[in-house]
Amino acid sequence: AGPETIKTVKTTCPYCGVGCGVLAQVKEDGSVAISGDPEHPSNFGRLCSKGSALGETLSLDDRLFFPEIEGAQASWDEALDLVADRFTQAVREYGPDSVAFYVSGQILTEDYYVANKLMKGFIGSANIDTNSRLCMASSVAGHRRSFGSDTVPGTYEDLESCELLVLVGSNLAWCHPVLFQRVEAAKAANPQMRVVVIDPRETATCAIADLHLALKPDSDVALFNGLLAFLSEAGALDQAYIKAHTNGFEDAVASAGACEINRIAEATGLARRDLATFYTMVARTEKTVTVYSQGVNQSTTGTDKVNAIINTHLATGRIGRAGMGPFSVTGQPNAMGGREVGGLANMLASHMAIENPKHRAIVQDFWQSPVIAEKPGLKAVDLFRAARSGKIKALWIMATNPVDSLPDADGVADALKACPFVVVSDVTRAADTVGYANVLLPAAAWGEKDGTVTNSERRISRQRSLLDLPGETRPDWWQLSEVACRMGFKEAFDYSGPDAIFREHAALSGYENRGSRDFDISALAGLALSEFDGLEPVQWPQPSGMGSGEETRFFANGNFYTPDRKAAFVATKVKEPRETGRRFPFVLNTGRIRDQWHTMTRTGKTPRLAAHIAEPYVEIHPVDAKQSGIDAADLVEVKSPYGAVTVRAQVTEKVQKGTVFVPMHWTDQVASQARVDAVVAPETDPFSGQPGSKFTPVAIRKK
Ligand code: SF4
Repeated sequence: AGPETIKTVKTTCPYCGVGCGVLAQVKEDGSVAISGDPEHPSNFGRLCSKGSALGETLSLDDRLFFPEIEGAQASWDEALDLVADRFTQAVREYGPDSVAFYVSGQILTEDYYVANKLMKGFIGSANIDTNSRLCMASSVAGHRRSFGSDTVPGTYEDLESCELLVLVGSNLAWCHPVLFQRVEAAKAANPQMRVVVIDPRETATCAIADLHLALKPDSDVALFNGLLAFLSEAGALDQAYIKAHTNGFEDAVASAGACEINRIAEATGLARRDLATFYTMVARTEKTVTVYSQGVNQSTTGTDKVNAIINTHLATGRIGRAGMGPFSVTGQPNAMGGREVGGLANMLASHMAIENPKHRAIVQDFWQSPVIAEKPGLKAVDLFRAARSGKIKALWIMATNPVDSLPDADGVADALKACPFVVVSDVTRAADTVGYANVLLPAAAWGEKDGTVTNSERRISRQRSLLDLPGETRPDWWQLSEVACRMGFKEAFDYSGPDAIFREHAALSGYENRGSRDFDISALAGLALSEFDGLEPVQWPQPSGMGSGEETRFFANGNFYTPDRKAAFVATKVKEPRETGRRFPFVLNTGRIRDQWHTMTRTGKTPRLAAHIAEPYVEIHPVDAKQSGIDAADLVEVKSPYGAVTVRAQVTEKVQKGTVFVPMHWTDQVASQARVDAVVAPETDPFSGQPGSKFTPVAIRKK
């Protein structure tokens, strides 16, 4: 028999946006055994390789235990006083927009809430952005353009109960594995179900595809505009839904043009027969769900891609009903929670809009704050550009590693060198960003911190602490609150714990709301500490008492969050593909692998996960490899105007000619010259500010 279990704690996996429930058994010898929570309605006991290995990643070897100022150990009082002083001084001398926070989809909703409140309501700037900008900002922008709100209409069940599942820019098998397992099981149980994978690469997800459309990079708008035209010409529209619940259909169809298969085939690189098969499948299948992820979002046309997809669902009335709808799957565990509290530079708390004076007044009144940010702040890429040019005088980075993960990563390092005062809150010394901190604050890690997260289907789950805080580590909400108090805002930030923050967040969601916004969890605003501790996973809008109380979807009967409660079709136009050119003739695509997470600071701790893929690599088509004199396993330099990596060649037909793929995880601490975001161009979508991390012109050569 193994060591005895001291306690079993129900918590949530800290990795992807599926948001799986986890049972953590803490053993008498200090080890932690992990299994899936059979009662969690998002995973029903399932876990993937990363989630199952959580117990192996809890070692304290690399942890930060004490605050540091300029590399020397300091007390919390010294560090917090200094942070408060420097932020106050910058605001006084240069104004509120001279300071910024860059936070993360890894922090909990309560941390996010406090950071957003401090920056927007008390400092008076909206310069708070998050690594979620790299993840799903284009979906947020697309949702808001179509629905008037950042609402995901459907639920995971829809992916199981549909008859046609269209996966666009989503390697679900590796990036959202438990959702993939659910789809696999549903497909096995329902032989009628069809899966179409739309991805320039042949990924592991293609194993369940009835049709794989390997379209040209960034040609999704052409594909979905063509679908809208086809649906229109085939008489497959829901005219009643269009008339009752939408505006702008005629313009969108006019913008899509005629369904000329030859033209669409040319624009997308797809065979006419495959296009016709796909379009006919969609036209004939009412129960259609379109899932989209980073292949859609991480693009300089990401927002248009999202709207081109949503247009096809509005046109057919296939939205918000069982087995139907557009569905954005987020990358991170709490990207949705961050959106709920307004943790992006262009949002306000509780899904309110920063551009809306009424919303600003509601939030300011609720917070009783001295100011409220009046315009959107700097989005991630622009924020670091501003730091590089000297405009940001004090920057606080929390739970993210931009020196490795933002595009033009070397430019980000330069920005941190140029910024006079950089605070980094993190758990580990293995994050390269830590090396640029003037003040380093040791944070509580997964297994130690306590609060809530919201997954891709709007389900709020508790992340509970199971281990004591090591050394002098403290949760992020505490660090932020302590600084806020020292900046003179004690009354508004005197929180007793995450439960108090959650209650305030829930109360704000219902404040002056009365059904005018999608996000309302005010029914949870009265939770006592013990009720917060025991909170079961809950999916909004259920807890607000809106609708029937059973309703888990939005928009089956319209009622969008626009002024006239109608959805807006967006007239999307096909843009000319970006140029590659003679010096940088290949298109670099980046993405995740199955068993690593972000910059590997946690998953890199277990050899079991490293066994899947041990080193960074570049996928190259055999024709390109031959022309470049590259053989399998050669070391290859992949270079753009921004930087270069040296990685091992995998020669494979899984990528298209003229394109290469490099995974995003490796940092210089793990493998030398493998930081691929140093190569990625910092080009962004004009609406969402999300970088196009899947399209950088590069050159390749054998080393
Ligand atoms: Fe964690 Fe995502 Fe795997 Fe679930 S699917 S166990 S949330 S990484």
